[in-house]
Amino acid sequence: IKKIGVLTSGGDSPGMNAAIRAVVRAGFYYDIEMYGIYRGYEGMISNDIKKLESKHITHVLERGGTFLKSARSAEFRTPEGRQIAYNNLKSHGIDALVVIGGDGSLTGAHLFYKEFGVPAIGLPGTIDNDLSGTDSTIGFDTACNTAIEAIDKIRDTATSHDRLFFVEVMGRDAGFIAINAGIGSAAAAILIPEKKMPIEHLVDKLRIRTKAKKASNIVIVAEGGKSGGATEIAALVSKHLPYYDIKVTILGHLQRGGSPSSYDRLLASKLGVSAIEGLLQGKYDVMAGLINNKVVYTPIKKAIVDDKSVDEDDFRVAKILST
Ligand code: ATP
Repeated sequence: IKKIGVLTSGGDSPGMNAAIRAVVRAGFYYDIEMYGIYRGYEGMISNDIKKLESKHITHVLERGGTFLKSARSAEFRTPEGRQIAYNNLKSHGIDALVVIGGDGSLTGAHLFYKEFGVPAIGLPGTIDNDLSGTDSTIGFDTACNTAIEAIDKIRDTATSHDRLFFVEVMGRDAGFIAINAGIGSAAAAILIPEKKMPIEHLVDKLRIRTKAKKASNIVIVAEGGKSGGATEIAALVSKHLPYYDIKVTILGHLQRGGSPSSYDRLLASKLGVSAIEGLLQGKYDVMAGLINNKVVYTPIKKAIVDDKSVDEDDFRVAKILST
């Protein structure tokens, strides 16, 4: 392997820049020419591919977002689109790929390897933490910190006005950010897609807390819940508790931004180096992840399978602490 292309794809996450920087630095260390593929698979198809030099990765580690930009490409989902992408890669002589993104992006890398035999390694770049084969995905820790910081501020106003707040956090159909930020911000209740909580239970819980004269009530709602997001849940609860002053805050895209936390910087750096070393050792069609602080290469097909779920024990702890 002499030339490696790196791209970021799907939803951006804090730490993607740190991962690109580690991939590129490690590539240079092993005398490999490194190429940046801009806007994910879209740039592979439109041939937006540039040779990277040291100057491109100076002062990017600490910056949120991704300087290679990210996109979603419908065309890459078609065999014709992938053929164009392959031809472009070949025109640059790129012989291997590092794909940083979520499950969709890694699925693309897996297909590309199967169809054209292009060696590819995936890195888990998503705030959602919904990939198996790693304890944490790049960006998850930062997103949780951002959510907690925002919820702390909401608590100040909730306490001052005796308000009940429903705060919606991201995570797609996974409740990792919700459970993590919920425990970390002393939420009254945490609603996640993985665990159904009947609305009556939630209402009872809030009534008990009111009787106990809790200073504030904040309910964390994961965006992908089956009964809806924070707006829908708040509307249901307000029918049962009409005397409550209820407010809804949707944290939204602010959870994707910001300078990566120390943990995300370390994770991105370790995995970036592991991506290059893995490719050089012939580990293809795998995702590099960190399990118990050790780098583990998991077949992409296994990493994207939706069998990672919120730790039962986290849920138990949250329940005990909010009673
Ligand atoms: P996030 O979880 O943060 O949203 P993601 O990587 O899962 O990130 P997707 O939009 O699912 O985001 O996928 C990103 C891109 O990967 C898609 O726009 C598409 O180009 C490619 N991709 C996804 N699924 C496939 C697939 N089945 N076949 C080919 N390409 C795919």
